[in-house]
Amino acid sequence: MSATRIDGKQIAKEVRDDIQREISARGAKDVPGLAVILVGEDPASQVYVRNKRKMCEAVGIYAEEYQLPENTSEDKVIKQVESLNQDPKIHGILVQLPLPKQINTRRVLDTVSPDKDVDGFHYMNVGKLVANRPGFVSCTPLGIIALLDRSKIKIEGANAVVVGRSDIVGKPVALLLLHRHATVTLSHSRTRDLAAVCREADILIAAIGKPQFITKDMVKPGATVIDVGINRLPDGRLVGDVDFDPVSEIAGAMTPVPGGVGPMTIAMLLSNTLQSLKFTEKRGR
Ligand code: NAD
Repeated sequence: MSATRIDGKQIAKEVRDDIQREISARGAKDVPGLAVILVGEDPASQVYVRNKRKMCEAVGIYAEEYQLPENTSEDKVIKQVESLNQDPKIHGILVQLPLPKQINTRRVLDTVSPDKDVDGFHYMNVGKLVANRPGFVSCTPLGIIALLDRSKIKIEGANAVVVGRSDIVGKPVALLLLHRHATVTLSHSRTRDLAAVCREADILIAAIGKPQFITKDMVKPGATVIDVGINRLPDGRLVGDVDFDPVSEIAGAMTPVPGGVGPMTIAMLLSNTLQSLKFTEKRGR
């Protein structure tokens, strides 16, 4: 058997097209705005920020970029965030991570207004996710659910196993799956007999950060496998957390790396920014 490929690049394009249509139907007076703050000169972060700006412009989201030098103080970053919290043109604020060592990341993220926290990292939005109340959810987990939905993979009643319990991927995606009525196991580095746990999964989500860690013997025949990992091998190749070729012989459907979860993350950032404008309008009424 050869797994159906879940094409994240194509699905992300469909999501962006939907967003673009919705923004253009709203007319020029209601434009969602996103501000991105980048501290330092990390080349990977610069590429991410450039991409985010390009994607914003392509769908009609107004974008602002704040590039601050590597030695910027924590107070200065916080002042920048506070000023954007007050700016009516801006509906989403994203602080590109990682931040330089002299800056307390948690303090900065908790300064972002929960109403503009399109990354879903503020503790109030994390709490809302736990309570299953409307708020912002981080973009990669949202993207995973959108991939499953648009590929018509049934979540309700499925056994879902998430490998990795990070705050930005593992934990939130486990909660989203739970709210969609999956039976969820959140596994991690101290899980006993991880292979046996993974073999129970109808939906297996790998968010570990270890190249080709999920092998064929860990996958139930016909399972849907979502690979969140992005790992660079010594030979320069980019691979996920799943051993793609052997696993694709047994899985029912799976995402490639690159071209799976990655493109969905930015698409969901755009979606959250538009959502933020809609929340603002609702509060204004
Ligand atoms: P993280 O390092 O914060 O968390 C990794 C998790 O994996 C931990 O909870 C840990 O318990 C678990 N883990 C580590 N070793 C394990 C083992 N041997 N067995 C079982 N579990 C183990 O990572 P993260 O931020 O969640 O990212 C995970 C991967 O996803 C990375 O490769 C990252 O680059 C990638 N990522 C991709 C996107 C995207 O947009 N595609 C977004 C975020 C992260």
